[in-house]
Amino acid sequence: MRAVVFDWGGTLTPWHTIDALEGWIATVKDPELARRLHDAELAAWVRSRDEHRSTTLAALFEAAGVASTEHMLADFFAWWEPHTFVHPDAPALLRDLRARGLRIGVLSNTFWPREEHERIFRRDGLDGLIDAAVFTSEIPWTKPHPQAFAEVLAALRCPDPATAVFVGDRPFDDVHGARQAGMRAVLLANSDIPEHQRGTVVGVPDAVIHRLSELPEVIDRLGATDAP
Ligand SMILES: [Mg+2]
Repeated sequence: MRAVVFDWGGTLTPWHTIDALEGWIATVKDPELARRLHDAELAAWVRSRDEHRSTTLAALFEAAGVASTEHMLADFFAWWEPHTFVHPDAPALLRDLRARGLRIGVLSNTFWPREEHERIFRRDGLDGLIDAAVFTSEIPWTKPHPQAFAEVLAALRCPDPATAVFVGDRPFDDVHGARQAGMRAVLLANSDIPEHQRGTVVGVPDAVIHRLSELPEVIDRLGATDAP
């Protein structure tokens, strides 16, 4: 094994069940505008699920017909802040994997801009531990599209997907996607994925874990099965 690629929400950060509409109300302070933004977000998740096409925060505001302001964006991210903290085990895990010579990637289905994700990495002490991060807000595709996985493997300079493990909490986007892309897949089975975000295929993982700290042992085992 040469690389380990992590999903972000529900994987490196613990799953939180949230009411996204409340986040939009905190953003625009107007129930009708919030409802339009929420509808635009739901439509974008359905498009991600069915067509594997990405979106951006700016595109959601445009689709909802709402002119965003700096204030709104600050309030949006402030509302989300309590739900963004990395799992306390994550920094030590990434250090352990790096010490084994593995390159570390992140591939996140997200409409947030890179700057916000990188601010979170710095806040939580992950900067310097991640070799490459691909945010789908910067590419046309979302997981499970094979091109999304190809982007992060290219950024990690890992040409053979069979030498990379993907770790994620979604059987469709993460496990099915990674397997389709030729990677190994580990399911972190702790998340309560909303019905409208579940896909049509339940991927079969190479391993299932319930804590991030179980990962090094699983990677050792997957690596061993590749030995001649
Ligand atoms: Mg996730």
